[in-house]
Amino acid sequence: MVFCFAADRALGALAKWLRILGYDTVYESDSSSQSFFENLEVDRILLTRTRKIQKKFAVHRTVFITSNYRADQLKQVVDEIGINPADIRPFSRCIKCNLTIAEVKKVEVYGRVPDFIWETHDTFNKCSQCKRIYWSGTHSVGCMEIINQLFS
Ligand SMILES: [Zn+2]
Repeated sequence: MVFCFAADRALGALAKWLRILGYDTVYESDSSSQSFFENLEVDRILLTRTRKIQKKFAVHRTVFITSNYRADQLKQVVDEIGINPADIRPFSRCIKCNLTIAEVKKVEVYGRVPDFIWETHDTFNKCSQCKRIYWSGTHSVGCMEIINQLFS
């Protein structure tokens, strides 16, 4: 099942983590629009810490986030929405831009990643917007542990 999300300004770390899991997640603070919530696609699930937002935009499915802590917030979303390990596509999306990243030829990233990375990796992905290059070690081993714990 594919879900997409919209996170309010209090939930930047959560938004980043949903992107790490591969979910299309727009974040209020990335938007210059005053009407961020008014302009969302109706199938976006709202993630908010504000009852007022939950009430005002009741057309959206909403997860009212209760914890201050990123790990608990992520767990709450996974549990309430019913995300399965098979649903996620970790490291498939740019954390900064929220766009899916695409594989690029190794030769194209020469000089754009540290030499030892270029020498030791064969697969690279690039964000078409910010041009950031991702490789399998871009995300620390710790990320994978956090993901595993999420579903354990
Ligand atoms: Zn990007």
